Amino acid sequence: MITMVRGMLTCRWAARRIQHYLDADPAAHLDAVEVARLEAHLAACARCGGRADQYRALAAALRSWSDRNTPDPRLVARMHDAAERIVAQGSA
Ligand SMILES: [Zn+2]
Repeated sequence: MITMVRGMLTCRWAARRIQHYLDADPAAHLDAVEVARLEAHLAACARCGGRADQYRALAAALRSWSDRNTPDPRLVARMHDAAERIVAQGSA
């Protein structure tokens, strides 16, 4: 029973850190001890390891999607021109 509760607490601890770990989030930096503990847990716990795999797959899918869906450079240039005209009119 104590082992089960300890495992649940570790999973909960890990769940709050997985995204920061995968994103290397500088706003929520994990120290070396936390990284080592989390990596060991992800390697040993199928549920948390699976969750990390799902986050990695989602991040890869989003990167792939955004790479294929870049805005038309002509449209971006027209938007820049329009913004510059608006700024110029505002300062005149
Ligand atoms: Zn876990």
